[in-house]
Amino acid sequence: MTRYSAFAIAREAFRQHRGWPRAWAGPDTPRDRYDVVIVGAGGHGLATAYYLGKRFGITNVAIIEKGWLGGGNTGRNTTIIRSNYLQDPSAALYEKSRALYETLSQELNYNIMFSPRGVMMLAQTEHEKRGYLRTERANALQGVDTRFIPPAEVKRLVPIINIHGPRYPVLGALWQERAGTARHDAVAWGFARACAAMGMDVIEQCAVTGVESDGGKVVAVNTQKGRIACGKLGIVVAGHSGHLAEMAGFRLPVESVALQALVSEPIKPCMDVVVMANTVHGYLSQSDKGEMVIGGGADGFNNYTQRGSWHHVEETVRALVETFPMLSRLKMLRQWGGIVDMTGDRSPILSKTPLEGCFINCGWGTGGFKATPGSGWAMAELMARGHSPLTDAFTLDRFREGRFIDESVAAGVAH
Ligand SMILES: Cc1cc2nc3c(=O)[nH]c(=O)nc-3n(C[C@H](O)[C@H](O)[C@H](O)COP(=O)(O)OP(=O)(O)OC[C@H]3O[C@@H](n4cnc5c(N)ncnc54)[C@H](O)[C@@H]3O)c2cc1C
Repeated sequence: MTRYSAFAIAREAFRQHRGWPRAWAGPDTPRDRYDVVIVGAGGHGLATAYYLGKRFGITNVAIIEKGWLGGGNTGRNTTIIRSNYLQDPSAALYEKSRALYETLSQELNYNIMFSPRGVMMLAQTEHEKRGYLRTERANALQGVDTRFIPPAEVKRLVPIINIHGPRYPVLGALWQERAGTARHDAVAWGFARACAAMGMDVIEQCAVTGVESDGGKVVAVNTQKGRIACGKLGIVVAGHSGHLAEMAGFRLPVESVALQALVSEPIKPCMDVVVMANTVHGYLSQSDKGEMVIGGGADGFNNYTQRGSWHHVEETVRALVETFPMLSRLKMLRQWGGIVDMTGDRSPILSKTPLEGCFINCGWGTGGFKATPGSGWAMAELMARGHSPLTDAFTLDRFREGRFIDESVAAGVAH
């Protein structure tokens, strides 16, 4: 792998950039067998493969993707990264992930544009304020650096905000200063390049159509490009998890719904933090290009539509306009959707499955981008060693045993 550096850029500038090798080169035809097959080349699948190689030396790995790399939710989210969750197992996993993000560009030698600009969650009702004060205290015990800030500080950090809204005044905010954003495609590309450099195969345009087992153990997957035998299988397909689980012979407590987002026309810099307004269901940041990136709630019915719909633009902007009056004067440029995988307790599943050798990573719902490196770190450990302290609480069994990890407050809005 050619290392990216200022020197390499200068050298290539002199030869019209003809010397760059492909960042990752997937073979058209997969090998007959791999030690590990990962289904889904989103951030979580790629990060799992990366840490399998990096931490455990397992490099005979294929990552199989039905579309293009990062074309699922990884390339469709609004890029918010934070770890201010309420329950201890969640805080541990999301904080591990946030910490990994801090040095991920250096680690992957790929600029993922991590921007720890700070994320605030507005309290706009007394109920919400009490919830965030509780989270602030829980975070203090968990070692997650957050604090509840008063309305005047919210206004100082975000001058464009209207804190005196008649319906939803700003009563304060839960503020995490080292939270932020990263370039989502770059996260997928950086992991893919590092996986390819370790000799792994990233195979795009290759849907998995079946899972083969023998004596209760996984032995192969059937794909559009033929049968691939495997020692272990990781299913990491977000909104399509139910389909893959059915192929593997088990059921998941997951529902798939479309989650939408939109961006405005680009404007001059006006807001340098991320703001989430969970009561009205909307959140906002400004991209480097100047567009206001706006996320809303999930569709109220199950579906697999990977696109936007008109009523969401109106609903989301209407919800935010009292707190951000300037939005009423902006043209909206484009909108899109992704299929998110929602569990009842709004926490993910990282688990062994009833099929021996088959592992599942799903249920990140509206908020899994922030968890990408941490999820890969923990999932790789689970697949390599059979257990990980970071995944112990997130097993499939918890739904049968009633050990829910309730994150409905922390994940109460799409983000
Ligand atoms: C509009 C929107 C906004 C969001 N905003 C945020 C945010 O701000 N912050 C945050 O933390 N999270 C956010 N999320 C959630 C986040 O994007 C996801 O939780 C996360 O990206 C999931 O990553 P993944 O790798 O598990 O899934 P994906 O990126 O969806 O990857 C799964 C891959 O599996 C592939 N696949 C499916 N079926 C098959 C098959 N049969 N064979 C082979 N491949 C298959 C898919 O094509 C896909 O590429 C948002 C999501 C959306 C849709």
